[in-house]
Amino acid sequence: MTTQRKAGPHRVLILGAGYAGMAAAIQLAARTKGRDDVQVTLVNPQERFTERLRLHIAATGQQVAEMNIPELLEGTGARFVRGWVTAMEANAKIVRIDDSRVLHYDTLVYGLGSVADTVTVPGVEEHAYTLNSPQDAEALAERLARLSGGTSGGTVVVGGSGLTGVESAAEIAERYPHLNVVLLGRQEPGAAMSPRPRAYLQAALTRLGVHTRSGAEVVKVLPGSVELAGGESVAADVVLWTSGTRVSPLAAAAGLTVDERGRIVTDATLRSVSHPEVYAVGDAAAILQGYGVMHGTCQGGMPTGVHAAVAILRALGGKRPKPFRFGYYHTPVSLGRHDAVVQFTHPDDSPRRVHLTGRMAARYKETVTASPWPTYGRMKKMPASGAFWPRGGRFTRVRGVR
Ligand SMILES: Cc1cc2nc3c(=O)[nH]c(=O)nc-3n(C[C@H](O)[C@H](O)[C@H](O)COP(=O)(O)OP(=O)(O)OC[C@H]3O[C@@H](n4cnc5c(N)ncnc54)[C@H](O)[C@@H]3O)c2cc1C
Repeated sequence: MTTQRKAGPHRVLILGAGYAGMAAAIQLAARTKGRDDVQVTLVNPQERFTERLRLHIAATGQQVAEMNIPELLEGTGARFVRGWVTAMEANAKIVRIDDSRVLHYDTLVYGLGSVADTVTVPGVEEHAYTLNSPQDAEALAERLARLSGGTSGGTVVVGGSGLTGVESAAEIAERYPHLNVVLLGRQEPGAAMSPRPRAYLQAALTRLGVHTRSGAEVVKVLPGSVELAGGESVAADVVLWTSGTRVSPLAAAAGLTVDERGRIVTDATLRSVSHPEVYAVGDAAAILQGYGVMHGTCQGGMPTGVHAAVAILRALGGKRPKPFRFGYYHTPVSLGRHDAVVQFTHPDDSPRRVHLTGRMAARYKETVTASPWPTYGRMKKMPASGAFWPRGGRFTRVRGVR
């Protein structure tokens, strides 16, 4: 049954205040400030902004800054709703919060991000720690503090040798030098980098005392150990799981077209191909560029949020939204607090020859990590300041899309 809606403002509901959702919210809020024909609402489980880029730092007990989302939205007219999205009903255009509240929308921005895959390998969900939320990082910090306070040392196994695994292993080894840190994964650490930065990264891990084993496939996590393909068992007092990615099942359950990983498939303007009133941003979206489908990063996520906001306003103003284009430009990887490696990349994320290492790279990485919150602050005052990112030139052109 369809219900007639009374006239009122156009309701834009943004789900998830991560890097992408925040960018969409602040961009829309700033551009519609003072207008009574658009109502912007942002939903997130906590008022504090989660700097995912620093969760490996928080997980070793180090303080990270507090950033308050409702405070940032103050004065814009945008509403903040604290809660967990438990269901989406795309045909009725409603979202359920904490199974009790119902929020209606005319346009939805879906920015629920992604988390490490704790489902595929048995035992991960029950026995491994993750960096999937600030609460998970805090739980790991407490466990590591207890382990390092013991007299007999201990072994921390980091499952997954991608960049989150590398950053986490380096951070734990630097913070707790008497713990044995083992980094296990299929690929060698820094596999996507060119030879010199890769060698630098691997030497830094060795200097920090991290034992790396590539070509290792974890098939099971047990209390006190992990089991590798082939049957070998590796003792572990703590397992941190960083491997693979998983997205919320909400979009698929609501009947939106999703890819094989559950991400919402978008058109060139970031609208869902099945439900054009839904825009998908950040890690939760499958966005096609000339080089392929974008992979989840903060550098690409923020532009998707800004673009969705601008596209929504263009559509509301009767204009045609423009296609989204983004080209990668760097891969900065921290190696503890004083060292890092930055691989500069072509727009398709393939490595260039240029890279930075050491303290200069650590400063670069810190600047990049710290930049989103001030960027939102700038966008609140000058929305157009959020529109600068590399479009990627010929790398991002999709045939037939203008
Ligand atoms: C340790 C670590 C280091 C990283 N380093 C880098 C880096 O150096 N550079 C880089 O580009 N990328 C990095 N990444 C990846 C980067 O963090 C992600 O690509 C980025 O966070 C994606 O942004 P997003 O807005 O899509 O999702 P997120 O930032 O994950 O935000 C999603 C938001 O949605 C909320 N949410 C989820 N489900 C629900 C629900 N059901 N109801 C309500 N709210 C919900 C979450 O709480 C969160 O606030 C790193 C990731 C990790 C874990």
